[in-house]
Amino acid sequence: MYMSDVKTYPIPNNFADAHITKAKYEAMYARSINEPDAFYREQAAQFLSFSKPFDSVCQADLHKGEAKWFAGGQLNVSVNCIDRHLPARAKQTAFIWEGDDPRVAKHISYAELHEQVCRLANVLRARGVKKGDRVCIYMPMIPEAAYAMLACARVGAIHSVVFGGFSPDALKDRILDSDCKVLITADEGLRGGKAVPLKVNADKALAACPNTHTCLVVKRTGGKVAWDDSRDVWYHEAVASAAAQCEPEPMDAEDPLFILYTSGSTGKPKGVLHTTAGYLLHTAMSFKYTFDYKEGEIYWCTADVGWVTGHSYIVYGPLCNGATSLMFEGVPTYPTASRCWEVVDKHKVNIFYTAPTAIRALMGAGNDFVTKTSRKSLRVLGTVGEPINPEAWEWYYHVVGEGRCPIADTWWQTETGGHMLTPLPGAIATKPGSATLPFFGVQPVLLDGDGKEISGVGEGSLAIKASWPSQIRSVYGDHQRMIDTYFSTFPGYYFTGDGARRDADGYYWITGRVDDVLNVSGHRMGTAEIESALVLHDKVAEAAVVGCPHDIKGQGIYCYVTLMAGTEPSDTLKKELVALCVKEIGPIAKPDIIQWAPGLPKTRSGKIMRRILRKIAANEIDSLGDTSTLADPSVVDELIENRANR
Ligand code: ATP
Ligand code: MG
Repeated sequence: MYMSDVKTYPIPNNFADAHITKAKYEAMYARSINEPDAFYREQAAQFLSFSKPFDSVCQADLHKGEAKWFAGGQLNVSVNCIDRHLPARAKQTAFIWEGDDPRVAKHISYAELHEQVCRLANVLRARGVKKGDRVCIYMPMIPEAAYAMLACARVGAIHSVVFGGFSPDALKDRILDSDCKVLITADEGLRGGKAVPLKVNADKALAACPNTHTCLVVKRTGGKVAWDDSRDVWYHEAVASAAAQCEPEPMDAEDPLFILYTSGSTGKPKGVLHTTAGYLLHTAMSFKYTFDYKEGEIYWCTADVGWVTGHSYIVYGPLCNGATSLMFEGVPTYPTASRCWEVVDKHKVNIFYTAPTAIRALMGAGNDFVTKTSRKSLRVLGTVGEPINPEAWEWYYHVVGEGRCPIADTWWQTETGGHMLTPLPGAIATKPGSATLPFFGVQPVLLDGDGKEISGVGEGSLAIKASWPSQIRSVYGDHQRMIDTYFSTFPGYYFTGDGARRDADGYYWITGRVDDVLNVSGHRMGTAEIESALVLHDKVAEAAVVGCPHDIKGQGIYCYVTLMAGTEPSDTLKKELVALCVKEIGPIAKPDIIQWAPGLPKTRSGKIMRRILRKIAANEIDSLGDTSTLADPSVVDELIENRANR
């Protein structure tokens, strides 16, 4: 029935020596579910170093949303990510930093990372930061952003990283929500050749944050900034006079590591709280196995550290494995749409991890930008953040990876801490558009409207049946909101908010947010599949589908379609798109309205905000909801102006 069911790409022959083969995946997965205690004891021994051994592996009650992992144990995350690698890896590169300007790059060794983190940790301590205090990090993509996270971990402070693209207001809200004592920022950021006024924004935000007594400022561009002597401290001056050794704070396994606000696709952002041991274990395991990371390889995740992907898969997962992680300051289209592939060639990147929004943008720019580069070093590709349309998947696979690199379509959330559904390159054959099978220890289920588990092939709400180590522990300052949001809809389960379909091979296909599911004449349909059908058309760059009120069908199908650069909209094209949906999915998926959209409303992390599109489609333009995380509000004005339903 579905177009995307058709194709399967087998495990490539050259992955026979992968860490996890098919037989190993099956055996390890079964053990992780049937004997979780023994399984996680072994994994913890392999991936983590505890300074005090734990008493129990997991105590959890999903009815109450409670989970404790490795209780009684003590460990420090910065020690696990840095110090313990020093005997073998002091000179090895921990981070490759690629600047916004293609002529600027540097390598930071594990020894240097240790020194930088210790110095900053001492600065924090000297400013009165203690275990449990909150520190806000509002930084460009520079190594100091990672130093700041790790320095917090070293002294036991809870970091809250706020994406550097956020406005003063969004920053202020987040500082106040978690009552941060210190803010670490930079004079300016640099993205795509343009300066981002971080200190100016920070000044505006801090004007309303009386409890933030210190603002540490990295000199990135040397741009002119205002200065408050009673609060502002130059980062480089402070670390220069601090000691290069710093005693790590012993942390309980369940002590908080960080707070991170979700991207706000579905509503007001939530301050998701993660703790120490379980989070680190799951990110370390999933980094190694999902990407089949091998000793000495160069790994690049293009996310910003302001998102959970940056936390788990630029900093914590890679460093816990002693890997080399590339951090990129700029944007994929600067100076040209070849940038990513040029960086791959320059640093001989083996593993590349990005988001569908970037893939679609680069696909729209044309193949020449890709094919003129070598990309011979690439071995594994990854994607995260939204459902990837099969069309974009195929392009990523064939054009970028030249049919040589398996794609890990990793489904997970800020709240899950790390990968939940993902193919492992040596173990799981892939299907374009499917996040395939669960990671170790993860028990996904599909629930019907009554909360009953659906077995076999079917479609429903995606929920998780048992605790996993990096499960959300709280919504900071509002524990009840966590219980209400994730643990009340289906008692005894963690509810993801996403819908999914399971095919005959047991593969999962994310159909979109449950709130976005359409009900057309009694047929439930995910937005992802209709969007994927629309994107199949040569002239379509991107599409977003929502339901709109419809007298007869209950809900009609309202499509926002962005055309390829230089393409003129026409009624003929509309007809072709309608026909395409009918052909690919069936008459039930016939669009009622197609609105041409020069741009789509997206979060700062590049996700389509369908809840806003739903409001426009329903002509409820006075109640758009929280728009604070919108990347470009003018896009919304344009869509309202030209809405088709009024
Ligand atoms: P908020 O919770 O504030 O609405 P958000 O859900 O966008 O924001 P994240 O935690 O960054 O914040 O995103 C997780 C969501 O992203 C998932 O619930 C899912 O809808 C989507 N997602 C992530 N990876 C994938 C993937 N590989 N395939 C399909 N969807 C994905
Ligand atoms: Mg979410």
